[in-house]
Amino acid sequence: HEIRVCMAASCQSSGSGQVLEALRAGVEPQTQSCRVKGVGCMGLCSAGPLVAVAPPGTTLNASRLYRDVAPANAPAILDNLGKPDPIERLHCPTDQPFFTAQHRIVLEHSGQIDPDSLDDAIAVGGYSALVRALTELTPAEVLREVTSSGLRGRGGGGYPTGLKWSTVAKMPGGQKYIVCNADEGDPGAFMDRAVLESDPHRVIEGMAIAGYAVGASKGYVYVRAEYPLAVERLTNAIRKAKRAGFLGSQIADTQFGFEIEIRLGAGAFVCGEETALMASIQGLRGQPRPRPPYPAEAGLWGCPTLINNVETFANIAPIVREGGDWFAALGTEGSKGTKVFALAGTIVNTGLIEVPMGTRLAHIIEVIGGGIPGGGRVKAVQTGGPSGGCIPRAHLDTPVDYDSLKGLGTIMGSGGMIVMDERSSMVDVARYFMEFCMTESCGKCVPCRTGTQQMHALLERIAAAEAGRAELALLEELCEVVQATSLCGLGQTAPNPVLSTLRYFRDEYESRLVD
Ligand code: SF4
Repeated sequence: HEIRVCMAASCQSSGSGQVLEALRAGVEPQTQSCRVKGVGCMGLCSAGPLVAVAPPGTTLNASRLYRDVAPANAPAILDNLGKPDPIERLHCPTDQPFFTAQHRIVLEHSGQIDPDSLDDAIAVGGYSALVRALTELTPAEVLREVTSSGLRGRGGGGYPTGLKWSTVAKMPGGQKYIVCNADEGDPGAFMDRAVLESDPHRVIEGMAIAGYAVGASKGYVYVRAEYPLAVERLTNAIRKAKRAGFLGSQIADTQFGFEIEIRLGAGAFVCGEETALMASIQGLRGQPRPRPPYPAEAGLWGCPTLINNVETFANIAPIVREGGDWFAALGTEGSKGTKVFALAGTIVNTGLIEVPMGTRLAHIIEVIGGGIPGGGRVKAVQTGGPSGGCIPRAHLDTPVDYDSLKGLGTIMGSGGMIVMDERSSMVDVARYFMEFCMTESCGKCVPCRTGTQQMHALLERIAAAEAGRAELALLEELCEVVQATSLCGLGQTAPNPVLSTLRYFRDEYESRLVD
């Protein structure tokens, strides 16, 4: 048997480290027949610490899963090994919709492998796509697979990945760079953190394949310093991949070489914007600059640079392994594949999920998420973080894809999904996100620097029932101006939560006006 203890940040914060120690101490005499190992995120964070018991090589869904495990439960779990029935009081059935209704590609090995073990990663096919690409495919053929997959950037913009890669590949030779954007900063979003904590080799492999496809020999992962566990595991994984020859000057006995360095971000939300991110990597102040030139033409140190986020890179190895057509068969016409979401807010099952594009919001919330605790009603779902908006209950039948969400006045974003029940005040939600944008504005351009402050002040007055109709009209006017005139995405999208709550919950604003 294998006993897998979730050692991702969420379960660790509820004490999974002690559970792992207790199980290891208890299993000492019988180490030949049982391996206790730390693994990455199993997804159901609200039930942590999670422990799965399974024969080696089996997936999470095929394991016997225990929830809310305490160190004192270790002897009972060990005693139960090999018995036909699980321990009833700790059992968390994996045949419930939270597990069975998902389709895991990015997270396929998350919660199954030890993220610190290269052997574990290789045992489930890690680096086989890289070796295949280098030894069997030309860079143009890799580009063709990525293009035919229909994969779109998972960082929020949804730009076609194949097109972006092709643009960098077409640039004249010389130094080119690959950048992995792991500066996840949306409140309530933790997809990238979980992927890096659970399967860091998958991201490294995707970056190396990208390097081969576009002709880049150097990559950077720009990751938040607030993610120490992700940084530690990624550092470890890069070191091991290098020692095993999957990174370095000659990979898989070919002429292709690729190196990866980590750069730590210091917690500025704007550094997730690609031009600010590149400035930060270069040691400059992390502020956006106007585009063009786009990074694909003139990025890091003026060289062509390919920037994708963590989840985008994590999709690459399966695409190369299984083929672009296989990926394109999943999802909808305009949004292929799956999407990882961080389910947060007032919902029974908070955690990390992965579903095919096109899955209905109601299915995610009611079936996978288990609905509102205590049987309450959903009022709205917020997607896309501070750049997104709120979707009201009446639109929960909408399929989750880039275009449908845009039509509702929000965006897919990187995958944060915050569920709110009837008790939530939508004015307060808008005020919260505006405060976030105001605090995170880098101050480079006037509309965003002063506009977010003014909009926040107006929202404060409306929330306190001190404002009248003229001030609400001013707020709406400011939203348009800031949207149209800000330099970067942060300012351009800062009004979105206000606009979407005004669109669907205008009565809540009006009920607080004094005239
Ligand atoms: Fe900075 Fe805001 Fe202007 Fe972006 S829009 S450059 S964050 S001030």
